[in-house]
Amino acid sequence: MKIIVTDSVAEEAINLLKEKHEVLFKELRGEELAKEIGEYDAIMVRSATKLTKEIIENAKNLKVIGRAGIGVDNIDVKTASEKGIYVVNSPGGSTRSVAELTIGHMLSLARHIPYADRSIREGKWEKKKLKGIELSGKKLGIIGFGRIGKEVCKLSKAFEMECMAYDPIVSDEEIKKYNVNPVSLEELLRNSDFITIHTPLTEKTRHMISYEQFDIMKKNAYIINCARGGIIDEDALYDALKDEKIAGAALDVYENEPYEGKLTELENIVFTPHLGASTKEGQIRAGTICAEQILKVLDGKEPDFWVNRDLMKSY
Ligand code: NAD
Repeated sequence: MKIIVTDSVAEEAINLLKEKHEVLFKELRGEELAKEIGEYDAIMVRSATKLTKEIIENAKNLKVIGRAGIGVDNIDVKTASEKGIYVVNSPGGSTRSVAELTIGHMLSLARHIPYADRSIREGKWEKKKLKGIELSGKKLGIIGFGRIGKEVCKLSKAFEMECMAYDPIVSDEEIKKYNVNPVSLEELLRNSDFITIHTPLTEKTRHMISYEQFDIMKKNAYIINCARGGIIDEDALYDALKDEKIAGAALDVYENEPYEGKLTELENIVFTPHLGASTKEGQIRAGTICAEQILKVLDGKEPDFWVNRDLMKSY
């Protein structure tokens, strides 16, 4: 069968697909993709390819869409489900990578590492201005205690941080198993020194952190979002940082990417361009898990990570 890969994925994943099928790597987008997709039985993407309704409607032979990663907001899952096309992904493949970036952002904020680097390049030696804090003994509030939230918690224990978590879906018993205090969102926001977000972007989580939430955070709090843009209201974040309602923020994800907004005017914020899953190891894991799912579907088997299982069954 014929498979097209339209975003750069690990070579290991492509080789796995090639063992059984004909594979073409071509970064097709929009109309071009809509024209050519009809030829293929499977497509593998990351987040750059947008699989819109129009493109999916042209996919006459398509049996499966594979997302090497987790988020499927770039795929019209409803249209795929209506057409009986499986949508599969690779949850867990990038968990460790995202968790390590989160810890990296916490250290960057606590010790002003990106600012210090810029300052030296500008010929300055701002030793006094750049006194930091230790992570040790600080309270870490984790919003969303799923795979990545749990991994961040595990890593934070090496720094002797004290964790609390807010997750309305995970039971208190489950959270307590990790020696973590289950709390309400309000309690977490009021008491955390570091707040880190690890929920999906849904109607409930969109702008879950906005003006009201920044108002109750500690003045010395830092907030980190390595989950999805839009969970933090960027206008509210701008005001909170400008008015020093909180000490700082670090973002890996943005409401619109690439990010071009006014937050770059501020100094108490650290940016990365959606690098959470961008590690060699993470890409190999995410790519190969996704390739295995595609192969299962093409072999007529049920995939393990089937995003539209319920939706497809309802059509
Ligand atoms: P997961 O599904 O394992 O965990 C998400 C958790 O969020 C679940 O425990 C769920 O119960 C919880 N949750 C859902 N709604 C909530 C709400 N309203 N309030 C609080 N908690 C809520 O997912 P994961 O693998 O841990 O991924 C977490 C996030 O990280 C996702 O948004 C994912 O897209 C993102 N991600 C980002 C990158 C990146 O490059 N920065 C890479 C991979 C994943």
